[in-house]
Amino acid sequence: MIKKYDYLIVGSGLFGATFAYRAHKAGKSCLVIDKRSHLGGNIYCENIEGINVHKYGAHIFHTSNKKVWDFVNSIVEFNRYTNSPVANYKGQLYNLPFNMNTFHEMWGVKTPDEAQAKIDEQKAEAIARMKREGIVTPRNLEEQALTLIGKDIYERLIKGYTEKQWGRKCKELPAFIINRLPVRLVFDNNYFNDCYQGIPIGGYNKLTAGLLKDIDTITGIDFFAPLERNNTSEKLSSLYKILANAGIKLPQQGSLKSIWENIADHLVYTGQIDEYFNYKYGKLNFRTVRFDTEIKDMPNYQGNAVINYTEAEIPYTRIIEHKHFESFGQSVYDNPKTVISREYSMEWQDGMEPYYPVNDEKNTALFTKYKAEADKLSQTFSKSQEQAVIFGGRLAEYKYYDMAPIIEKVLNINI
Ligand SMILES: Cc1cc2nc3c(=O)[nH]c(=O)nc-3n(C[C@H](O)[C@H](O)[C@H](O)COP(=O)(O)OP(=O)(O)OC[C@H]3O[C@@H](n4cnc5c(N)ncnc54)[C@H](O)[C@@H]3O)c2cc1C
Repeated sequence: MIKKYDYLIVGSGLFGATFAYRAHKAGKSCLVIDKRSHLGGNIYCENIEGINVHKYGAHIFHTSNKKVWDFVNSIVEFNRYTNSPVANYKGQLYNLPFNMNTFHEMWGVKTPDEAQAKIDEQKAEAIARMKREGIVTPRNLEEQALTLIGKDIYERLIKGYTEKQWGRKCKELPAFIINRLPVRLVFDNNYFNDCYQGIPIGGYNKLTAGLLKDIDTITGIDFFAPLERNNTSEKLSSLYKILANAGIKLPQQGSLKSIWENIADHLVYTGQIDEYFNYKYGKLNFRTVRFDTEIKDMPNYQGNAVINYTEAEIPYTRIIEHKHFESFGQSVYDNPKTVISREYSMEWQDGMEPYYPVNDEKNTALFTKYKAEADKLSQTFSKSQEQAVIFGGRLAEYKYYDMAPIIEKVLNINI
C-alpha cells in the first residue's frame, strides 16, 4: 500500500500525461487529476457519429525530432495525414502554404521564375508606394506583409484571416508578428517542413490512454475547489476511495491545493500559473476560439480537413472537417455522415477556454512576476524537500507550445 504518491499531477494534458508515463516507468507512483470530465487536456477527441472530433481545436502532430516521434509511436502508431490546408477567398480556392500551386491559382504563372518575377514586381510596388509616403521601415503588420509578399497575396490570403484571428485591423497590429513569409517555388502543399507528421491511428485518446495506462487518474476534480468530507458528489467519493485504497487519509477541509502534501511528495502543476497564486498580481489574458460543431448528413462536406476563410466578411476563420484526419481516399465514404466545426476567434473572458497567451508587454510583465514566485517553489525540487513543485505546460508557462515540444520538454526532465 502507498503511504503517499511520489507525484500529484494536476492536469492530464500532454505535459501531465507524459510526465506520469515517465515517472511510472521509473517506478514512481502518480495520481493524475483533471478538472475536466475527461483525460487528455486539449488533445481530447469526442466521438460523434463514429468520427473523432477534435473538441478543443484541430490537432496535427508534427516534428523533426526523431526521439519524440519514436516516443509517441511507441505508445500508438500514427497515420500518414499530411496537413495541406486550402484557402477560400470569396469563393476562389487557393492552396496553402504559399507555393507554386497558389501562385498558379493567383496569377496563372507556370514556372518558378514567372512566380518569382510576379512576387518581386508586387513587392517593389509596395516598397515604392511606401517610399513616396516617406515610410522607410514598415510601421505595422500591413506594411510588413506588403513588402514581404505584395498586394495580391496579402489582400486575398492574409489580411482578413489575420484580422479575424487577432480581432484588430492589420494596420493596428505590430509589424513583428510577421517576420518572414516563406514562399515555396515548388508544387508542394504540405504545410509543415517537419520530417514527421500524422494523427494517432484510432485518435488522440489512444495516445492519452497509452500514456496513462496503469496510473491512478481522476477527472472532474479541481485542484482549487474546496473539498468537504461529507460531499456526496460521485467524483469526490471516487477521489476518497482512490486515496483510501492507497492508504492516504485526508484532513476534513481545504482544497487539494492546501493539502496536496498529504497526498504526494511532489506536485506537477499544469494549470494556469496566475490561478495557482490566486491571481495576486492580476489575471493573465488569452485569445480563445469558439467552435460551432455540426453533424452533416453527407459523407464528404468540403473534401479536406482544413479550409481557411480568408475574407473579412465571413466571421469564422476556418472550417474543420474532422473525418479527413483519419479517413483517406474512398474510406471517406464508409461513413455516410460527417462532422464539421466552424472556428470563431475571440477575446477571452472568465469561463472561456484559455487558448492562446497574449505575449504583449503587459502580460509578459505580469507573467514574469508569477514566474519568479513559481521559481522559488521549483528551486526546492529534490527528493528530500516536500515543497517541490514543477510548473509545466502551456498554461503554467503561459506560452504557446505545439505538442511535440511539450513532449520533448518532458522527455528531458530528470525524473
Ligand atoms: C486551438 C488549438 C489548436 C492546436 N493545434 C495544434 C496542432 O495542430 N499541433 C500541435 O502540435 N499543437 C497544437 N496545439 C497545442 C497543443 O494543444 C498543446 O501543445 C498541448 O495541449 C499542451 O499540453 P498541456 O498539457 O500543456 O496543456 P493542456 O492540454 O491544456 O492540459 C492542461 C490540463 O490541465 C487541466 N487543469 C487546469 N487547471 C486545473 C485545475 N485547477 N485542476 C485540475 N485540472 C486542471 C486542464 O483541464 C487540462 O486538461 C493547439 C492548441 C490550441 C489551443
